[in-house]
Amino acid sequence: MGKVKRYYLEINDYYDALKYNNDLLEYTGQNTLDNIQNIIPPQDFVTFKEDISLLDPGENTITCFRMIDKENVLNWMSANVHRSKHNTSIIKLDIYDIKSFEMDKAEGYYDEMTGVLSKSAITDYAKKLIEKSPSKKFYFFIMDVDNFKSINDTYGHMKGDEVIIDVANIAKKCVGEKGLVGRIGGDEFALVLEKICEEEALRDVLREIRYIVREKYADEDNNFTVTTSLGGGLFPDNASNYDDLFRLADKMLYIAKAKGRDRYIIYTPSVHGDLKNDTEVLTISQRTMQNKVKNTLIMDLMSGFLLKDDITIKDAFQKVIDTYMLDEVYLIDKKTAKTTFGLSKDGERCELDLSDLAAEEYQPIFETYPIKVINMYDLQKANYLRFSEFMLRNEFRIIIVYYMRNTPEGGYLMYVSNANSNCRFAETDFSDLVYFSRMLELSGKL
Ligand code: GH3
Ligand code: MG
Repeated sequence: MGKVKRYYLEINDYYDALKYNNDLLEYTGQNTLDNIQNIIPPQDFVTFKEDISLLDPGENTITCFRMIDKENVLNWMSANVHRSKHNTSIIKLDIYDIKSFEMDKAEGYYDEMTGVLSKSAITDYAKKLIEKSPSKKFYFFIMDVDNFKSINDTYGHMKGDEVIIDVANIAKKCVGEKGLVGRIGGDEFALVLEKICEEEALRDVLREIRYIVREKYADEDNNFTVTTSLGGGLFPDNASNYDDLFRLADKMLYIAKAKGRDRYIIYTPSVHGDLKNDTEVLTISQRTMQNKVKNTLIMDLMSGFLLKDDITIKDAFQKVIDTYMLDEVYLIDKKTAKTTFGLSKDGERCELDLSDLAAEEYQPIFETYPIKVINMYDLQKANYLRFSEFMLRNEFRIIIVYYMRNTPEGGYLMYVSNANSNCRFAETDFSDLVYFSRMLELSGKL
């Protein structure tokens, strides 16, 4: 466990150092301290000056700045500042080295694997920044590697680790002095871009990160590409506190993923609307929750859930509805084109009749093996008018059909979602549904 490093300093309104402790001298490597502009870089001194000038006699404030150490390295400090009530030209600073402060905490200041800040450090940092200067603009972004699981699955965990480390280093380098990077999850990073408040400058950094990450592996193997998605917004214009800022960034990331990944989304009210009323989009914790449930389903399937004697087709349908937030699931007989068994998300039986649809309209799509995703857009494009009407009439947004070829009668498993979004499903969901369908088909329960 590290020890918190604290320094004491008294200055006047000309920033002359009046009193200080030995630790501070030792930190700077100088024999005496005169003007503290010599130990605070100019870009940080601007806000430092502002904070101090706003301080009335007897008042306290908190400020953050970097201080140059004896090796010419800049370290972040947080200081409690107090202007003397009686001698109003004296300002007292109780300075903490943020790094040592964080290292003293149970959770490390740095993420061990990548060397960027840990989740708690970057979170604390952003919160302190907000607390310290509630009107100072900065951008906050969340970055996530696209389809990272498939990198792990295809090339192994070691390669996955290598990618995470590279992405972290690239982000850190591109952000440079303009802010800080922290790792907040497996392949997920937070960017606090405190020296950027203009969109042009922001775009430069985001573009550069995406470009360099992609270039990094470009020569390795044509099939191996690493892309990233980013989402975020501007404090305090788009969010008035840290939690809202984080939620906003998370939602923009979600949109970036939904739009096809490999892009950044900057929150723009006229485009994305007022997110306070937005319930469509899932937050990180909800997504993580959902992934856990999905993993459980797959584990259940592996342990032969569907093959157990006491599991009914209703149990199986209910489980898949709950896991993938579906609205209805049907088993359709191939010959009659009618429901053999249907279940709604409320656990009620439901029926569907495809027989009044022209067979030539649905058969070509339904008999795509193993799975076909049907949405309104594709149907209209293919001029399948009766099918489009059928979708509209039933308020179906997306249908996923699994074509069963291995049961004696044949048939279709139909997974229906009425959710108002084309991007409800992750690619992995489709393979999960194929797996689920195949197991069900083999279980002999149909
Ligand atoms: P998406 O494009 O939607 O982000 O898809 P994804 O596959 O990247 O999904 P997600 O971001 O949820 O995947 C993160 C995965 O990262 C899940 C976990 O197995 C893996 N992971 C978490 N920590 C580590 C780590 O330290 N090393 C490696 N190699 N993998 C990790
Ligand atoms: Mg990812």
